[in-house]
Amino acid sequence: MVDASEERYHCRQVLYTFQIIIIIHEKMNTIRILKPLVLVIILLAAFWGCGTMPSHWQKLLAITLDGKDDEWRDVPNTADSTVGAVSSIAGFYDSTYLYLLARGSGLDKSTDWFLDTDDNYFSGYITGGGADVLLENGRAFIYSGSGTDWVWTKIDDAHVFEGTGSTVVETAVAYADLGFNPSEILPNIAFGSGFTHYLPGPASPVKLVSPLSGGASEYPDFSIIPNALGMAIDDVGWLDWEGGNSRDALPSDYKTIIDVGKNLGIRIMTAFIMLDFDKTNLSAGPAYNSPEASSNMSKFGTRFDNPHKNNAQLDEIMGMYREAAAYIELGVHGVGHEHWGGSKTNYDSGTPDDPTDDYSRAEFAHIQPFPDIYHSEPWGTEDNRLKLSCWEEILRLYFTEEECSFPKSMVPPGHAWYYGSDGKGSDESTGSVAGSFGIKYLNCDMDVSFAIMGGVEPTGLVDNGVLVMHRASGADYYAEGETAGTGTNNQFEYPAYPGSSYSWIEAHFPNYWNSEGIWTEYLTEVNNAHDRMLAKNTAQVASQWLYRHDAQISGSGGTFTIDTRAMRNEAYHYGLLSVLVLKTPLFGKHIRRASIDGGAQITAYWEDNYDYGYLMIGHEKAPMGRLPKGVYTLRAEYGEETMESFINLTESTFNVYSYSYTADSASLALELYGTQDISIKLPFFPGHVESQSPGISVNNWAYDDGFLSINATGLDIQGETGKITIAK
Ligand SMILES: [Zn+2]
Repeated sequence: MVDASEERYHCRQVLYTFQIIIIIHEKMNTIRILKPLVLVIILLAAFWGCGTMPSHWQKLLAITLDGKDDEWRDVPNTADSTVGAVSSIAGFYDSTYLYLLARGSGLDKSTDWFLDTDDNYFSGYITGGGADVLLENGRAFIYSGSGTDWVWTKIDDAHVFEGTGSTVVETAVAYADLGFNPSEILPNIAFGSGFTHYLPGPASPVKLVSPLSGGASEYPDFSIIPNALGMAIDDVGWLDWEGGNSRDALPSDYKTIIDVGKNLGIRIMTAFIMLDFDKTNLSAGPAYNSPEASSNMSKFGTRFDNPHKNNAQLDEIMGMYREAAAYIELGVHGVGHEHWGGSKTNYDSGTPDDPTDDYSRAEFAHIQPFPDIYHSEPWGTEDNRLKLSCWEEILRLYFTEEECSFPKSMVPPGHAWYYGSDGKGSDESTGSVAGSFGIKYLNCDMDVSFAIMGGVEPTGLVDNGVLVMHRASGADYYAEGETAGTGTNNQFEYPAYPGSSYSWIEAHFPNYWNSEGIWTEYLTEVNNAHDRMLAKNTAQVASQWLYRHDAQISGSGGTFTIDTRAMRNEAYHYGLLSVLVLKTPLFGKHIRRASIDGGAQITAYWEDNYDYGYLMIGHEKAPMGRLPKGVYTLRAEYGEETMESFINLTESTFNVYSYSYTADSASLALELYGTQDISIKLPFFPGHVESQSPGISVNNWAYDDGFLSINATGLDIQGETGKITIAK
């Protein structure tokens, strides 16, 4: 209980003993009838100065720490899930206390709150997403370990109160006792119960959604840069599947990926193995194999004769990438996935002349076999270059350079990547080669090859122009039927989602076979948090990562300051940065007006199934719509209608770099993937729609009910940039 002798806590004790009073914004029309006693306490609290009570707060809410959640209905969830012991977490704060709520079942064993109070992943318990404070069974601890060990120091005089029921845990902590202030930095929160059930993941906190941070009914809350999660599927392109799979891959399995992308309005990254698509055995060429090269392209070297070279499915599958580039991205995995030849043999059958011998992990760098994999060694930049050249030469059997430029996206097989002799991406790193081919975005479990970074895996870094982003294993095994719901070796507990240290969700090709429904459902719910969004494409994952790490956003009351002055120079130099996406709860309304200064623009807007609205922000004059270094002011307000004119990205996967309109014309610059509809709310009846770029063709258009729908095709399936103009 509270020490009543301390004047500082005197009024707290009154509040705690009877009822803790907090006030949130009016949202509904119901007026809560206050009991006279409660009113007295409010007056006492105000008299003693124990609670800041802004005059615009219109509704009183009484919280009793009784293990019941009936007072919490107007507090938005920070995270929730439909399966598992912990179903939701929420929180808010007043001038002294941070209040936390967890709902679920069987929550009465042991309870842990993890709080990342400085919003810094790299401080505190880094293994647990940077948690600085642990609240365990009503006691408070500060992290005192070195980042990866479980070392916490109890704060004996901290004021922590807990009300625990089997379905609800309510906690209040006097945050000054623990050295943080949520009104300055909103903490990231995570909850665990019984040591096995966590939300959103095993101690990977997400940003608190607070009704006091501007997210209630009056103003939109764009004060968070949401973490964009992309979907990446490995080992696509292999035709033969063994082990737990009863059949080989079929064109219909590619269609499943495309259908999931279409259902969600996203472009799924596939990491492609090329060897089975080598119709002319060019990977058997002497330049690609020993003795001319230092290793072999496949286990058969110059003797390779592709058993699939006459398979009609090869053209059919590449045709699907051509037709459905809006929803599926052709990215690089490797030619043959492993590394044959060279001196570092991991696998030796012991049988003389066995062609599987002298085979090691993996194609682009050498790693020791599991579990000792936290170290990679180089095959050499020339070896890396030959692999990517061969990959591209096979690609050219199907696409010209105009139809498919070298992919921008890659997953290294085995997550094996050489990061230079200095561990800092020096010139001999794999990134120096991949970057020269045009790779910009790499996603992998960085724990495998990047743990060299002082023993701690980073969440991302730039290696010679390649932005390396961290990925969470979600459905990590290789068999059909193992999906987001049933996969093993996961780094986040289904149905929760990866925390903010991750940018990608991982699957392997068979995890998608016949699993359109569960993946659609699982990925839809990524959007069900203010701090998190389902990425529409790879460029968006990368941009959001850069803005989250290098930009600052603050504000409330509908006015926000976006500061990009600390953006790393590499983001501009290597063309890694593009448009920014921000997200707000809508409370049943829409964004009616939004504007931004400094030459930036609102380039698109969309809403999701969870009552969130998204603004895409670009800069008219900057490459890829990226925000130049500077300080921008964003203003936005709610209304019953949407904005007068905007590009609606709900079902689309392209990026809009700029958008402007007048009473009789409009124009947009975009990066378009494949063939898809461009939906624009227009304030006039259009008479002409034209592409100003040879790579983008307007197939047809129609105007209905205030919306223009343009069906357009980008020639380069890796993304075509251009401009479309609309006139009366
Ligand atoms: Zn793989």
